[in-house]
Amino acid sequence: MVLNASWEPYRVVHWQRAVLLLMGGKIEVLDSYNQIVRSPSLALQVPSVVRMKKFVVPKRRNPIVRFSRQHVFLRDDHRCQYCRNVFPAKELTLDHVVPVVRGGKKTWSNIVTCCADCNQRKGARTPAEAGFSGFRPPREPEHGFIPDLLLLKEKVPQSWRPFLEHLSLFQTKTA
Ligand SMILES: [Zn+2]
Repeated sequence: MVLNASWEPYRVVHWQRAVLLLMGGKIEVLDSYNQIVRSPSLALQVPSVVRMKKFVVPKRRNPIVRFSRQHVFLRDDHRCQYCRNVFPAKELTLDHVVPVVRGGKKTWSNIVTCCADCNQRKGARTPAEAGFSGFRPPREPEHGFIPDLLLLKEKVPQSWRPFLEHLSLFQTKTA
């Protein structure tokens, strides 16, 4: 995991890329795995957390933010955005907030996680028309890094955690 010079998580890269950055003097290593990589000229512990020496301005719309069913479920915490209940992925579907027949697009800001019951109840109506009060329109994830982390959420290495604890994503949920 690469942190920006500001200590914010920046991106996830393959360890080989991290070694190249290290050779280029671009990063400092904050933590390493136990594995050692060897080449004829060096032996090195595989870095697990590194930090850019210079601040990199993150791209506003990072192409890493891929729109996918799984990413939408993860963004919404597997919670139906209408009844607010949590379901396993196989019981969830995607719903167009503004229905397709009314020009609703398949985008981050128009697609939400939805359970089968709510999906049926909503039909081709807007949330307000279907009587779903308290519905909040979805947003596109602002940071390309977040989907990477979401996918890794269950298997994030221990050494990364101290640098992620401030993200609500990684705070232990109660109830
Ligand atoms: Zn529901």
